[in-house]
Amino acid sequence: VRAEQGLVVSGIEVGYHRGPAILRDLSLTVGAGEIFAVVGRNGAGKTTLLRALSGLLPCRRGSVRLQGRDFTGLSAERVARSGIAHVPAGRRVIPGMTALDNLKLGGYQHSRTALASALDDVLAMLPALATWGARRAGTLSGGEQQLLAIGRALMSRPVALLLDEPLTGLSPAYQQDVLEEMSKIAKGGTAILLVEQNVRKSLRTADRGMVLDEGRGVLTGAAAELLAADRLRDGYLGVG
Ligand code: ATP
Repeated sequence: VRAEQGLVVSGIEVGYHRGPAILRDLSLTVGAGEIFAVVGRNGAGKTTLLRALSGLLPCRRGSVRLQGRDFTGLSAERVARSGIAHVPAGRRVIPGMTALDNLKLGGYQHSRTALASALDDVLAMLPALATWGARRAGTLSGGEQQLLAIGRALMSRPVALLLDEPLTGLSPAYQQDVLEEMSKIAKGGTAILLVEQNVRKSLRTADRGMVLDEGRGVLTGAAAELLAADRLRDGYLGVG
């Protein structure tokens, strides 16, 4: 794990407004080129974790570092410009715009030449996007929209990519596509943090992972070890 080149989360506490802490003393590391899966049942705090890492929610304690730089307390805008891209649940592509125009939105911060080269690279990484790039995003299938949302996030050339439930609502074939594209993206050096309710599928693709329960990391390790862990096998998560 090239941790110093990736995302390091140390002892964060996060909650909404003045409410109780949802995440407590949570730590994890995602190295460059690594896929780290956070799994847990509904309400465990998975979405809250991604919101905190992307600057949408403040950390009350602890720190978030990317490539050794302190990201704690940065605005969502600064975080996005400085190397962390977030693909929220539900994909949120703009339905009335073409797929290509949706992609370009992800590179809004680039100069015209940087935008063109980012687009070339993203289309090389996700060639399926080129085949339906001229279609309006709203007419694409759920799986195509998920790939588009991932491609849009890659347009910013992130160091770390945060994916919220990228498999949810997709057919098994599209789930497989998304998992394969994720592996390709990681091989290119991006640190990928994925939160998922599809425990087995995500752990089979991930390198390492964590079981999140009531805002605490209750089990962390190699994905293969988590898959074999008794607590997982015994239905600890309440899902297969
Ligand atoms: P799901 O997959 O159902 O979204 P999750 O693991 O992503 O589950 P979160 O959405 O992070 O879980 O929710 C964790 C806790 O935070 C829950 O108790 C939830 O009620 C609370 N919560 C989520 N959003 C808010 C909010 N906007 N304001 C206050 N509390 C919230």
